[in-house]
Amino acid sequence: MNHIYLDNNATTPVLPEVLVALLPYYQHAYGNPSSIHWAGREVKGAIENARFQVASLIRARSDEIIFTGSGSEGDNLAILGSCDALKGQGNHLITTAVEHPAVYDTCRYFEQRGGRVTYLDVDRHGMIDLDELEEAITPETILISIMWANNETGTIFPIKQIGEIARRHRVRFHCDAVQALGKLPIDVDDCGVDLLVMSGHKIGAPKGVGAIYVRQGTELTPHIHGGHQEHGLRAGTHNVAGIAAFGKACELAGQHFDSQVATMKRLRDRLEQGIMARVTDVQFNGHPQQRLPNTLNLSFSYVEGEGLLLHLDMKGVAASSGSACTSGSEGHSHVLQAMKVDEVLLNSSIRFSLGVQTTEQEIDTVLEELPPIVEKLREMSPMLGNDLDSVDCMVVECDIDDHH
Ligand SMILES: *Cc1c(COP(=O)(O)O)cnc(C)c1O
Repeated sequence: MNHIYLDNNATTPVLPEVLVALLPYYQHAYGNPSSIHWAGREVKGAIENARFQVASLIRARSDEIIFTGSGSEGDNLAILGSCDALKGQGNHLITTAVEHPAVYDTCRYFEQRGGRVTYLDVDRHGMIDLDELEEAITPETILISIMWANNETGTIFPIKQIGEIARRHRVRFHCDAVQALGKLPIDVDDCGVDLLVMSGHKIGAPKGVGAIYVRQGTELTPHIHGGHQEHGLRAGTHNVAGIAAFGKACELAGQHFDSQVATMKRLRDRLEQGIMARVTDVQFNGHPQQRLPNTLNLSFSYVEGEGLLLHLDMKGVAASSGSACTSGSEGHSHVLQAMKVDEVLLNSSIRFSLGVQTTEQEIDTVLEELPPIVEKLREMSPMLGNDLDSVDCMVVECDIDDHH
């Protein structure tokens, strides 16, 4: 059976060139970059090269890049490190209702520690209201934390305008750019962010490496103590292979940016239009224009998303449920819930996320496989032909704990 992977917002396959770039650090280049002898120097150069490659992709300076163990770690450092560094100035954060758990749950934790958090609402396209953002700012506000693009729907936030608002009010701005990296142009000076978080495994590097851009002069309190790696902001012997790989992935993303983005968008649109033409009663979730080029989130009326995923899986197609079972009430996606997606459609949503390796042939196979599955599930559906109110009573078994 052919495997078709359309869950690239969850993770991406390691790119062949990236694998080549990381192998030496599992072979002959085994030194500790903090050592001063030849073995250390050899790998120190690799880390500084990777730092330059990551910095270049977001138009930052090398000394503003701190390597971390994941995107989640970067988000934690940005938020909690800011709250601790700025605790003399206030204890109020502003974020959105649709952040990734790495931000959302960290904000919840900050609330448990006595902080105050404003969660900005979104409209049905998943978009925030900039006036609401500005009105939420108080003299106590120390941080605005808003993602660049949403992982479930692909909705892109107006980062430049948010940056302008943050500047005007002299509030620090953190952006979770994990989903934007490699898919949208990023220029840290143009968008006015102070802290920007990235993750390797979403752009063709291995899992377990990330980075945070820290604008010069932005004070952060570290949370991992030990050695003085990464300007003392992140102790721990470097994941040399992972960092070298992440650097290579950033370099490749920069080199092939235009063509890769254009291809993903063309194939995503082909998938979207193909499904719309072949399947009835499909609702689109997300922003019609401000959307990542690779993401498609759809609700199939009268069909359960998890069931659809299972049947797609049996055909070798990997997609993701729009409902992240760990967040939101009743196991619904907190993102779709915040967008006020119809109650009966919350469990019917599916996210397709394409990658740079996705082919037209794969999309066409999905377009052949999907419609009969939806048709079959609808024939069996208790939701169809019955009183729709009864749908609420259906219990959805959900044991997958992370769809991100
Ligand atoms: C995947 C993801 C993260 C977490 O990154 P990890 O490296 O997996 O910890 C954070 N934010 C967003 C938007 C993501 O998609």
